[in-house]
Amino acid sequence: MMNRQGRPSQPSDATTAPISATWTGHRALDLNEPLLFEQDRPGVTGVDFEPVSEGKTRLGGLERDEKIGLPGLTESQVVRHYTRLSRKNYAIDMGIFPLGSCTMKHNPRLNEAVAAMPGFADIHPLQPMASVQGALGVMEQLSHWLKTLTGMPGVSLSPKAGAHGELCGLMTIRAALEARGDARVRVLVPESAHGTNPATAAQCGYKVDSIPANDEGRVDIEALAEKLGDDVAAIMLTNPNTCGLFERDIIEIAAMTHAAGAFFYCDGANFNAIVGKVRPGDLGIDAMHINLHKTFSTPHGGGGPGSGPVVFSEALVPFAPSPFIAREGDTLRLVEDCADGAVGRMAAFHGQMGMYVRALTYMLSHGSDGLAQVAEDAVLNANYVLEGLKDVMSPSFEGPCMHEALFDDRFLKDTGVTTLDFSKALIDEGFHPMTMYFPLVVQGAMLIEPTETESKESLDEFIGALRHLATMASAGTSNSFAAAPQYSPVTRLDETQAARNPVLSYQVPDQDAAE
Ligand SMILES: *Cc1c(COP(=O)(O)O)cnc(C)c1O
Repeated sequence: MMNRQGRPSQPSDATTAPISATWTGHRALDLNEPLLFEQDRPGVTGVDFEPVSEGKTRLGGLERDEKIGLPGLTESQVVRHYTRLSRKNYAIDMGIFPLGSCTMKHNPRLNEAVAAMPGFADIHPLQPMASVQGALGVMEQLSHWLKTLTGMPGVSLSPKAGAHGELCGLMTIRAALEARGDARVRVLVPESAHGTNPATAAQCGYKVDSIPANDEGRVDIEALAEKLGDDVAAIMLTNPNTCGLFERDIIEIAAMTHAAGAFFYCDGANFNAIVGKVRPGDLGIDAMHINLHKTFSTPHGGGGPGSGPVVFSEALVPFAPSPFIAREGDTLRLVEDCADGAVGRMAAFHGQMGMYVRALTYMLSHGSDGLAQVAEDAVLNANYVLEGLKDVMSPSFEGPCMHEALFDDRFLKDTGVTTLDFSKALIDEGFHPMTMYFPLVVQGAMLIEPTETESKESLDEFIGALRHLATMASAGTSNSFAAAPQYSPVTRLDETQAARNPVLSYQVPDQDAAE
């Protein structure tokens, strides 16, 4: 029998089958592992319950009558299974994770220790408010920090990720426009935008109109002026943008947008580049989401849920989603009251409490000076990478970058190596690849965000590996690139098949056919 990786797997009834010479599929520390359902031995369990006396039941007659199809496994089987699986993957706890625009930075363990305190970890969102005053205090203090750092008067904590925050922001803008009887139909989105921006605008029923970038990778102001009109609801802009560049004309863009009666939505996912240095409220922004799981170090990318609070300008505060935290003397409570036509709730409860605790811990442990240094170090590290690679790879734009360095595929011209091959080869060097083919405005993009938590030594190692690959590519070794990765648990996949014909559900192997 073969498992899904095409390696032989254990016979399902290991106790009775004769022991034959079969290859385990193990290769050194890469241990092969059948699915838990394939390891099933009915009746085996990791827990011994006391026998129940005759005629009695444990759950007062509420137990199920039928089996629910869980496999029989020992505790050690389960522990080994998940440990083996975890070793097939890459994680920020293993090394630099340079995925551009994702801000994969170290998750401080102090945050985890605080979030695990019973007063935060063991509470329920429907508990009486008098019994969760400390948790509400965390939400109030986090709101205060977010408003102070952005210079914006209102915040809604409940959105559960960046994309959800964008939805929250555009729904609030739509509510404010509808309240003034001003139905508008277009939302302007720069070409370099993250895919969630046009998706959000479309989800809110707007027509997406894209603004071209100029030769410097920034918004083309003249093109913007032409596109603005009294049917434009909002512009959605990312700053620093996804080319890793600061939009220098942002104050003028805000003024032009407001003069046209539209709102200015800023995608703040890249806030780590400017936190403590620039307050978005001072730039004329009306709404911006902040990814706690990027800028404020809460785990993501398989490590935990996102959290995307949105800050609002004075004009939008009355329409922002509920609930809000209100203080009466020493007592905090969550209130639902909001203006007619306001958005209402974005989520059943109040959002990602565990992430609020981690983000506030991060803010308090850094202080405002420390947060400004976060931005400085993020920008310094990205420029160190840019400088370390610019003679062997091709930077897309002149001059220094913000928190991420963008390269295109000109350096691979005539080598037979593509951006995809180059990124896959990085896996064989022991690194997670950078973001590739995004942003769309440059050909064969490679977007590297080292983040501020990498040391000079780790950056040097990473730069060294990329320089090695760039040299190999120009030396004409395109065959080894086309086959990469060769040393990972799963080797080169058929990207087209994986996208067009994904196999997403478990199928019980057909034993007779396979054996
Ligand atoms: C990460 C990111 C988003 C989306 O955030 P999610 O939490 O993944 O939904 C939006 N815009 C930009 C620029 C981002 O980097």
